[in-house]
Amino acid sequence: MADTKTKGGTVAVAGIVHRYAGVLALNGVSLDVQPGTFTAVLGPNGAGKSTLAQILCGVLRPTQGSVTVDGVARTRRSRRAFVEDGVVLVPEGRRLFGQLTVRENLLLGAYGARCGTVEMHRRLAETLPLMPRAVQEGQERAAATLSGGEQQMLAVGRAIMAAPRTIVLDEPSLGLAPILIDKVYEVLGQLNASGVTVVVIEQIAAHAMRYAKSLTVLDRGSIVYSGSATDDAAEEALKVGYLGHAT
Ligand code: ADP
Repeated sequence: MADTKTKGGTVAVAGIVHRYAGVLALNGVSLDVQPGTFTAVLGPNGAGKSTLAQILCGVLRPTQGSVTVDGVARTRRSRRAFVEDGVVLVPEGRRLFGQLTVRENLLLGAYGARCGTVEMHRRLAETLPLMPRAVQEGQERAAATLSGGEQQMLAVGRAIMAAPRTIVLDEPSLGLAPILIDKVYEVLGQLNASGVTVVVIEQIAAHAMRYAKSLTVLDRGSIVYSGSATDDAAEEALKVGYLGHAT
């Protein structure tokens, strides 16, 4: 990950309103993710977290409002253009290709970022050491045969293959045992230490709050807290929707 040092990207949204048919999912959300930070976006079920994650990464275009990547307006750009700008989403539910091999899933991350074969193999050599043994040693296995935790790590690995400057993860701990969540967060901590900007979207606070320096709390489509993750006010904000606290 040496080449990602000092390369943390920024992504910002302003005045975001998003509607799905009649459902108002986000109602005037602004968020400015600073380069190299580790940000947690927390909120109860239905708060609008997934919608925000997808808008931050260009997967979904907002009904209203702007999206800026590294200070440049990007609201109408394609998802691929976001990946090329270094903004990569690890979606909820991982979305791996279960019948493809572990290695093929990893390489697909680099295809998304349009890189050549030599660069792709360089990235693979950098990414594999961050992966659990089952991924490192099981590159020819079908991805579907990995455990849930290993699949989540593979989804993170696939995103790393795109050489992200900003990585956004939608509920990476969903359905995983605490010890496996620790492993996922260890890798996110390593990525962040190498300079990559990390944004984790979670419903449960505990793991994210161990790493996050910045916190945003969403509730019913609006931001109810945005600031330091370590302030007393942050602890208070986590009481929304019984999100839990940092301990
Ligand atoms: P969270 O990730 O915090 O659970 P979401 O962003 O998934 O919240 O959803 C926010 C709101 O938008 C919810 O009321 C949800 O039911 C609604 N919603 C999400 N996706 C769709 C969709 N594709 N069609 C209609 N409503 C949706």
